[in-house]
Amino acid sequence: MGKFIGAHVSATDGLYKAVIRANALQATALSFFIKNNLQWNTAPLTIKAIDCFRAACAEYHYNKDQILPHNSYLINLSHPVKYQLEKSRAAFIEEIRRCDQLGINLLNFHPGSHLQQMNEETSLNIIADSINIALDKTVNVTLVVENTAGQGSNMGFRFEQLAEIIRQVNDKNRIGICIDTCHAFAAGYDLRTETTCNVTFNQFDDIIGFKYLRGMHLNDAKVDYGSKIDRHQSLGKGNIGKTVFMWIMANKNFDNIPMILETINPNIWSKEIAWLKTNLVSDTNTN
Ligand SMILES: [Zn+2]
Ligand SMILES: [Zn+2]
Repeated sequence: MGKFIGAHVSATDGLYKAVIRANALQATALSFFIKNNLQWNTAPLTIKAIDCFRAACAEYHYNKDQILPHNSYLINLSHPVKYQLEKSRAAFIEEIRRCDQLGINLLNFHPGSHLQQMNEETSLNIIADSINIALDKTVNVTLVVENTAGQGSNMGFRFEQLAEIIRQVNDKNRIGICIDTCHAFAAGYDLRTETTCNVTFNQFDDIIGFKYLRGMHLNDAKVDYGSKIDRHQSLGKGNIGKTVFMWIMANKNFDNIPMILETINPNIWSKEIAWLKTNLVSDTNTN
């Protein structure tokens, strides 16, 4: 119970290595790419790979609530070309099944891009269809939609768009939201002060609802407020600053969900995790 804090670690040389790498950071949450991020085809998981992953999770005490893998960037659940949409949907379903085989309950994914070939409303409809198809063909895993910076034609940069996707999803028990702080800031949600954090997350609660919040990506931003450009930065070294991360650590609405660093310098992840933990206990513990 409490806050689960970790990073998006490499799964090179075996998925179980991601667990070992997270443990080395003293992380209490972890993320990794559930499949090779740059290839459509990957061999099915072997029994040995599944057993090794499950054994590592047991050994290092990571449970279902602490693991939030990321989907492949190749997948576009709003692709305007039919055969490519179908390819994306099939790959997405395969990723969900891999999660289930590994005993993972959550899968983070980007909603999709319309590639300027349709309007936003149509794109949201296609994304919701993609999710409903995937939910019908799988079990157990909750699909966690990540907000985007709104770069290019990426959908999901407004809370209203995420709420509309949820509205169209048939099985509300298996849909959730992950908020990436860098993406939110770039999309025009201010997070620089406690006041603006309150405003932004009150809006989130009104439009979507904290009950759907299943994960966080904790990133500072290299880019300007409202720039719609997706460039992450280490905590406190970007244009958002440290306040939001301290505010999140002190807020019960963020309990019991994986909170994942995708900051740009893996060499300081263990320091960033340790710093986040220092902000957990009470707000008198400032530095
Ligand atoms: Zn992402
Ligand atoms: Zn992210």
